[in-house]
Amino acid sequence: MPIPASQPLPPSADSAAAPADGTVTDRLVEANRRYATAFTDPGMDARPVLKVAVVSCMDARIDLHAALGLELGDCHTIRNAGGVVTDDIIRSLTISQRALGTRSVVLIHHTGCGLLNLTEDFRHDLAAEVGQRPTWAVEAFKDLDEDVRQSMQRVRTSPFLLHTDDVRGFVFDVTTGLLREIDPRP
Ligand SMILES: [Zn+2]
Repeated sequence: MPIPASQPLPPSADSAAAPADGTVTDRLVEANRRYATAFTDPGMDARPVLKVAVVSCMDARIDLHAALGLELGDCHTIRNAGGVVTDDIIRSLTISQRALGTRSVVLIHHTGCGLLNLTEDFRHDLAAEVGQRPTWAVEAFKDLDEDVRQSMQRVRTSPFLLHTDDVRGFVFDVTTGLLREIDPRP
């Protein structure tokens, strides 16, 4: 069922997330103080050790580093709603490859993605509500595998990227934690 642009969060969401004392951001800042106490400068270069960029959905259930056995400094992680290869993802990949030396691209979509429940009506409803048409597409999709293929294709055909020979796409199952590779040919 399509989700209207103005759909509010469920009533429990806010009260569950916010700590008793202060906002959720206050909580994060406090956690950072503890983190910094134990932090030592790893002395790393900004270039990812494994020369890989991972493009993924922003979904809160995907812990990319844990799921892929990655360590600090190993890779670039580039995330947006859906893990869709938009112009801004291409911008980040271009900088990743041309300025920071990555060569491989891994694309990750996932089961239960919020974009599976949206349509471009979201954009039209939004425009009607706020009186301004967004310049971006919602990039909603119905077929996960096909959207991964579409994303691989967008990366492979980008004129801005230096390396398009090692581009692989996957669907992450949020219930098993397993990746399923998508064949670029349907
Ligand atoms: Zn998602």
